[in-house]
Amino acid sequence: MITRKSEREINQMEKAGDLLVLTHKKIAEMIKPGITTMEIEEFVEKFLKKHGATPEQKGFQGYKYATCASLNDEICHGFPRNEPLEDGDIVTIDMVVNLDGGLADSAWTYAVGNVDEKGLRLMDVTKKALYVGIEQAQVGNRIGDIGHAIQTYAEGEGFSVVREFTGHGIGPTIHEPPHIPHFGEPNKGIRLKEGMVITIEPMINEGTWKSQMDDNGWTARTQDAGRSAQYEHTLAITKDGPRILTEQDR
Ligand code: MN
Repeated sequence: MITRKSEREINQMEKAGDLLVLTHKKIAEMIKPGITTMEIEEFVEKFLKKHGATPEQKGFQGYKYATCASLNDEICHGFPRNEPLEDGDIVTIDMVVNLDGGLADSAWTYAVGNVDEKGLRLMDVTKKALYVGIEQAQVGNRIGDIGHAIQTYAEGEGFSVVREFTGHGIGPTIHEPPHIPHFGEPNKGIRLKEGMVITIEPMINEGTWKSQMDDNGWTARTQDAGRSAQYEHTLAITKDGPRILTEQDR
């Protein structure tokens, strides 16, 4: 069932979003060659606890960590690990914060040191693709409008769109219906209604969109070892347009 949230519920999710944004801003300061994603993981656990929040991913379907840390050709659900990040890596940190029952979900790709031009362009296009999708998150539009806009833009820039992982409804649990694909046909799928809260989280690849699963059963990576970037916001559908609950620039 697709739930629609009250103003009060959305405000609580935005409080979780504000804390998630603060956490991402701290991570942005930490990211440099030599740091490990396990250090970032430990920071996030402590930081959320200090602020009275919990990492909702930890324990979700047996997942062991507060963060996902997906490196270079890893599309999503990479595990935090003890190998240091290297100059030129790109790494996506994804987290879901629970603050007094309000949830917020946001992933961000970070450049480690000096990333080559194509990698920076992949990141730039992926971030723009997120906002191109968000523009379509209007009352009365259909879910296909979001995916179509993202796919048209990203493929027009010469990149590909991951198919197997999608955005989703969120609250009261991490993953609620509906699925929000980042590809598709305009004017298809269910209509967006006021009070729906969803994530849009395009994963864009420099080569093929096709993925393969690691033996750990969680981590998806590209079949051709090309890099993958991802930016994700949680947003509410309102009569005044999309209300981003994890915006970093406010
Ligand atoms: Mn998500």
